[in-house]
Amino acid sequence: MEPLGNDTGPPAGSPINRPAKPLTKPLANPPGGPVRNPKESPSESPPVSAPRLLLFGAHPDDCEYHAGGLIARYRSAGGPVRMISVTDGGAGHHLRQPEELRQLRRLEFARSGRLVGAEAIVWDYPDGELQCTLALRQQIIAEIRRFQPDLVLTHRVNDYHPDHRAVGQAVQDASFMVTVPRIVPEVTALRVDPVVATMVDLFTVPAALRPDLVLDVTPELPTILAMLECHASQVFEWLPYNARVTPPVPDDESERRDWLRNWFLHCVAPRRDRFQGALRDRLGIERLDDVLCCEAYEISEYAAQPDPASLSRLFPSASCR
Ligand SMILES: [Zn+2]
Repeated sequence: MEPLGNDTGPPAGSPINRPAKPLTKPLANPPGGPVRNPKESPSESPPVSAPRLLLFGAHPDDCEYHAGGLIARYRSAGGPVRMISVTDGGAGHHLRQPEELRQLRRLEFARSGRLVGAEAIVWDYPDGELQCTLALRQQIIAEIRRFQPDLVLTHRVNDYHPDHRAVGQAVQDASFMVTVPRIVPEVTALRVDPVVATMVDLFTVPAALRPDLVLDVTPELPTILAMLECHASQVFEWLPYNARVTPPVPDDESERRDWLRNWFLHCVAPRRDRFQGALRDRLGIERLDDVLCCEAYEISEYAAQPDPASLSRLFPSASCR
């Protein structure tokens, strides 16, 4: 669903894929599994200061592609992370049938989440057919209230993919409403809005992303790649097909890994060019060639407005405007 060479991320699941401890050790300090409600199990609770991160992506690989570095940093610090794919991922393939693909992508997403100890949840909206409905907004409001995140991430509404736009709009529409008790009254309203931010993209019409925060996530690159590798039906099958990649993706596992690394770096290189000013001036990076991958985030005006101290907590080691 996502064209290769365009930094929009690869594309396109209901039940909660329960998290487990990480399968590999890409993180310097791999944490335990995520905590659904810290109050329920004090012995497994993250440090009080660890912020909670909730992501709404349109498809099962969107969160990792657009925000994998920040996800890795949260998990390294012990912060609970919940990734949601709003659609079921059933459209992102040229050969696999929708039901097979839905099941496969649910497994791929769950595996990616387990890798870092994040929850990976797939909702039932059909891939490629998402609309910004009242029902979707209400489901997002309930989700934000139940998880009680410090930071919510999603797509911008300026995006090539209709599913991305629908999710971005629905989260934007839910941002203030999470504090209104008469809306979705069956779930207790929040007294304080979380901070809401949009994930990196390079689209410019009608407006480019304002890089309120920029992160050099080169240290997190191995984790990002390991998560993306879990989405084999996308990164090794659908995306290369859709982009008419030649020569074909190698079959050998090791060669595939190298191919994935080269492909991802090729896709995200334009981010460095776009945000080079922030990388150089705000982060003090002189050799931009050393930045293999960066992420940028724009803070929503429709939710909590963080002060510099809050930004430093929510976006560790990031540059601030
Ligand atoms: Zn997508």
